Amino acid sequence: MMVKKEKVELENFEEQIVEEMDEVDKEVVVVKSKGELKITDLPGVGAATAEKLEIVGYTDLMSIAVASPRELIEATGMTEPAVKKLIAVARNSLDMGFESGEELLRRRAKVFKVTTGCKAFDAMLGGGIESGSITETYAQYGGGKTQLAHALCVNMLKQDETAIAVYIDTEGTFRPERIEQFAKGVGLDASDALRRIKVARAFNADHQMLLAEKVEDLIKKQNCNVKLVIVDSLTSHFRAEFIGRGALAERQQKINKHMHVLLKVANVFNLIVYVTNQVMSRPDQFFGDPTEAIGGNIVGHNSTFRVYLRRGKKNSRVAKLVDSPNLPDSECGFYITEEGLKDL
Ligand code: ADP
Ligand code: MG
Repeated sequence: MMVKKEKVELENFEEQIVEEMDEVDKEVVVVKSKGELKITDLPGVGAATAEKLEIVGYTDLMSIAVASPRELIEATGMTEPAVKKLIAVARNSLDMGFESGEELLRRRAKVFKVTTGCKAFDAMLGGGIESGSITETYAQYGGGKTQLAHALCVNMLKQDETAIAVYIDTEGTFRPERIEQFAKGVGLDASDALRRIKVARAFNADHQMLLAEKVEDLIKKQNCNVKLVIVDSLTSHFRAEFIGRGALAERQQKINKHMHVLLKVANVFNLIVYVTNQVMSRPDQFFGDPTEAIGGNIVGHNSTFRVYLRRGKKNSRVAKLVDSPNLPDSECGFYITEEGLKDL
């Protein structure tokens, strides 16, 4: 009973602060960019161009540094030399050793996708969940976020027999038994699957952030072929630990830092990052679905693909792609079954 009361209070708090969230997020971005370049600091980028870039998903220097010139020309109407200069400056400012356009092309060619197990869901995502970026699902409890996390592990291990999956579990909902069932569904040896999933229970937000930083060590020092990193859930600890208005800016900054670490490993090691997120209800939303993801713009901007999951008819689930840099918003349905996600 006590737990339930606390949960209700927490949700009321989220509702109270929702309008302030956007303001806080603006501050967070300012703090983050101190000493760093902002998009508007790039040559030829004023407020209007920055807005155009933002609309199509280029919200930070990283996204510009890894964009192709053609994409940016389309988005901004700038000339090719101007756009090339833009990319070069963005790359230099990131100090990540980006070189030629050919390198970039080779990088893009390495991007791979893993199936959700459901054809309609994959099609909606342009072929599956993509490497080199962060894919986020948000949903109410029971929406299927954790089931999809388990399914992705198994499907990734099935697709690449040397792959390792990392599962950062913040809610204690990872179930090896579910992995066994999903493995059976795709004809993968269950003990082999379990052996190749590295599960870490994150006990608090700092621990979670540290675990994400350790992924790089796992790859470099322990020679693990990590192809998938799951954080289930991204926001629960932050939500529970940073309570009250005074803590909001710090919470958002920490989430931002955490997601940058995840985005960096996704990019540098060309692996898939899948994160789950909780929802709150917006009191000021009178029409349509009042459900909104936790974490404000910080989470939204750092996730390359955002998918909203909800319950549908006859115990099905509905997945809605709400944000993607290159795909239209659309919806599809699926079932969660004993042995995996299935088409309707
Ligand atoms: P959340 O979005 O909260 O992470 P989950 O991914 O844990 O939600 O989804 C839980 C739901 O998944 C359950 O309510 C149930 O409908 C479904 N589910 C869980 N296990 C099974 C199973 N073995 N067979 C069929 N459906 C299952
Ligand atoms: Mg869950």
